[in-house]
Amino acid sequence: MRSPFDLNNHPPADAPVGVICPGLWTVQVRWWKRHTPNPGEKKCTECAQSWPCHSWLCWDGQIGDAWDAATRYQRAHPAALNSAAPLLAGVVLEVVAVKASPARRAKTTRRPPNPEARRAAG
Ligand SMILES: [Zn+2]
Repeated sequence: MRSPFDLNNHPPADAPVGVICPGLWTVQVRWWKRHTPNPGEKKCTECAQSWPCHSWLCWDGQIGDAWDAATRYQRAHPAALNSAAPLLAGVVLEVVAVKASPARRAKTTRRPPNPEARRAAG
């Protein structure tokens, strides 16, 4: 899905609470920004295609999906916004997603909870 972001409103560099894989968010945002045009131009600075280029659309779709998942998580767990445990939140969301989607169960590997993040969450 398209993200809510555009050239005047870039996605945040830090992963929002509830993103399933915060490290991947950082990579997605970096490439999203690389595949944007210079101000006033209509071609991608990275691949020189007409903008929006194919790569930007792919990265934007991934960011949109991640943003949507984070938003759903935040609505279901509003207290998570006040805690400093985004990693733990992501693990919980991943487990929920696997249980909700039997088709994905075989493809998704479940990471063990990070003990340090669990202690930080209290
Ligand atoms: Zn591009």
